[in-house]
Amino acid sequence: MPAGWKPARYFFLFPFYFLLGVFAVPTARAEEVRTVKAPPTNAVNEFYVSNREPLLPSAFIKLPIGSIVPRGWLRKQLELEAQGMTGRLAEVSGWLKFEDSAWASPQGQGKNGWEELPYWLKGYGDLGYVLQDETIIKAARKWIDAVLSSQEADGWFGPRANKTGLKGRPDLWPHMVMLNVLQSFHEYSGDERVVPLMLKYHQWLNSLPPEDFGNGYWPKIRFGDNVETAYWLYNRTGEKWLLDLTRKIHDNMAKWHSGVINWHNVNLAQGFREPGVFFLQAKDPKLLEQAELNYRTVMDMYGQFPGGGFVGDENCRPGFIDPRGALETCGWVEFMHSFEMLTKISGNPLWADRCEEIAFNSFPAALTPDLKALHYLTSANLVQCDKNNKAPGVQNGGTMFSFSPGAVYRCCQHNVSHGWPYYAEELWLATPDKGLCASLYAASEVRSKAGDGTTVKITEETDYPFSETISFKVSTPKPVRFPLYLRIPRWCQKPALKVNGQEVVRTAGVSPAEPEAGGTPAVRSAGGTPAALAGPLSYAVVDREWKDGDGLELRLPMALSVRTWAKNKNSVSVDYGPLSFALKIGEKWRRYGGSEQWPELELFPDTPWNYGLVLDEKDPAKSFTLSRKAVAAQPFTPDAAPLELQAKARRIPGWQQDGTGLVGKLRPSPVKSAEPEETVTLIPMGCARLRIASFPVIGAGPDAQEWAAAAGAGVRASASHCFGNDTVDALNDGLLPASSGDRNIPRLTWWDHQGTAEWVQYDFPAPREVASSEVYWFDDTGHGDCRVPQSWKLLYKDVNEWKPAENPSEYGTKLDSFNRVTFKPVKTSAVRLEVQLKPNVSGGILEWRVSDK
Ligand SMILES: [Zn+2]
Repeated sequence: MPAGWKPARYFFLFPFYFLLGVFAVPTARAEEVRTVKAPPTNAVNEFYVSNREPLLPSAFIKLPIGSIVPRGWLRKQLELEAQGMTGRLAEVSGWLKFEDSAWASPQGQGKNGWEELPYWLKGYGDLGYVLQDETIIKAARKWIDAVLSSQEADGWFGPRANKTGLKGRPDLWPHMVMLNVLQSFHEYSGDERVVPLMLKYHQWLNSLPPEDFGNGYWPKIRFGDNVETAYWLYNRTGEKWLLDLTRKIHDNMAKWHSGVINWHNVNLAQGFREPGVFFLQAKDPKLLEQAELNYRTVMDMYGQFPGGGFVGDENCRPGFIDPRGALETCGWVEFMHSFEMLTKISGNPLWADRCEEIAFNSFPAALTPDLKALHYLTSANLVQCDKNNKAPGVQNGGTMFSFSPGAVYRCCQHNVSHGWPYYAEELWLATPDKGLCASLYAASEVRSKAGDGTTVKITEETDYPFSETISFKVSTPKPVRFPLYLRIPRWCQKPALKVNGQEVVRTAGVSPAEPEAGGTPAVRSAGGTPAALAGPLSYAVVDREWKDGDGLELRLPMALSVRTWAKNKNSVSVDYGPLSFALKIGEKWRRYGGSEQWPELELFPDTPWNYGLVLDEKDPAKSFTLSRKAVAAQPFTPDAAPLELQAKARRIPGWQQDGTGLVGKLRPSPVKSAEPEETVTLIPMGCARLRIASFPVIGAGPDAQEWAAAAGAGVRASASHCFGNDTVDALNDGLLPASSGDRNIPRLTWWDHQGTAEWVQYDFPAPREVASSEVYWFDDTGHGDCRVPQSWKLLYKDVNEWKPAENPSEYGTKLDSFNRVTFKPVKTSAVRLEVQLKPNVSGGILEWRVSDK
């Protein structure tokens, strides 16, 4: 009660106050807000194409493209995409020349009939539909018309070469992508040619021998994509044979339902979900669980850092889990797309959380701020994006981190197109009980049929994830009752909701929300002690008669928290709601190629990056001070970062870039530092293309370790040969084997060279004294054909000549231990270990050290 009110006056006003209460309460009655884990699926939303029996119903139904108009920062990403690389990719990509593309000729002849064109068109078309950009729609249509007119009598369409692309058998992978293009085009336009063409093509697919679905590397791994398309087609046609086809595909393709069966990053990002998709047909809950299990298997092993990705810098490689490892841009967008699909199938809000995690923290950093160029790989710890070779620290040689608009990265430059458009299409979803769900939060407008079929518009206003508050306003031609689902993220403990300005609270005494699918009334609006509206990972459902102008305000309070990554040397990351933070590093951009219009760019650090955080031991989250500024149109740059954290840190002099420019690997925390304490700034990871997001922790206690300059710091390792799955980096990675047969840590092998003379070499950044060397041989007797060598010796570089070390003690070939040799000390710029392999076998090294002692 406002101070100064006199009892008499209060008494006088009481009847009005009472009346106000009576009229205010019905706007948020007890039964209006409930909390559920997922929408019930025992009703059918006949306004939109839902799963047709015998498929299981999905928890959410996609709205037709065009129903959702994105606003705010998301719209800006789409506009930049339209003006940038995706919108104008035909100017810089040789794969998109209409005149000589096999996708554009009526007979499917010509060049370039593989994945690139459909990859690009898949997002380019949707970009046009989402932005309602007529120029893009027209340009996409030219390609789509060509594809739609290319069908042959037997049902095949598009490039003829693919029909016999796998040793005479069809290469079906590029078609899976083109089918996605056609799905979106049909959703947008309703074009009557699409469904008959797709049906006829699927009839042709259905006529193939079953083993064709297990052919080739890419098709057999990615055939889950076609299963999803066939369900889309089945839901629109009811042609039952499509479900025979999907079963045949599932039975013959790679068996993702048996676990992670392939470790290529893009295959993983799209393949892992296949059992979750086929679950709709097989109805075995274990299949849906397997998608989750596949995800966790990968993330538990290779995703031990913030940002939502994993180390799969082409393939996941045993031992490569440090956050300097990276995920390919194709991997980011396919992972997001998989999460969007699984959100709809399962209704589990965790998948939407995971999608936001990548969208806010990782995907923006894969592109330049103007979206005119991208790089192949994005890491959580990345301090330099130059064009030079970083292998074997990352798997591929050549340019992987510099930003390029053109053909350098081939797949990614085309496939990146669908990242933001698909995201924008999934902000809002329809529910089986004829309601709507705000699934991914972003400023937007949605028009949808709901309740009795009235078309309602909901305007969502927010700066989320840079703000905690999301406002919704309902426009409707007449009052209409429908449930509105609001996703409560995993990190949000105390969401709060106002309906028409009235706070919705749960009365103390009502059992805490343990929501169940189908809805457990657990929230009351009347009086009592305010409690959390709904628990994390649930939906608050506002089920009421909506009137024109009704407003909702959802608050998702964010809290600072610190995560410790035990599997990555006890490093820590800092989170605030869905955002993870990275050190703000000064950026120095340098053009190295391309044109004025389409520059190729390197990015170098302009400020120090080798900091460990000084944390409040009792309450690490208290170590930071948060400040905010207005959200810029393009918030994903260091200077525009809408949120900043001030933190205390000390530099770690022993933490340096390696000889290839990659950030040095993390070593155990806590780490000692005698450097002065400084205040550093952290910004959202998505704003930071140069970033340290997995931090060492500074400590002073007995458990704190010194990070001496790494043994391998600045040292360049090379070899006469290294097997593709192994790495020269293993020589001085500091990972010590349990035995000579240890296959769990990285190694160098000369496989498949057998009986040959081979070498490994260290080049030092400056001449240094060397007096001994230790080598730990790899020997996989019982598994393979690597053995200790027949003989070996150590050489040093004398100006330009290799000379044998003088007075060597012993060149040993013992198993399961280091073989140490001492010799007359020498100052040199490089040493080389020369090996003669035994006849008919190969050999390898697990670790190699040199010392001045
Ligand atoms: Zn790619």
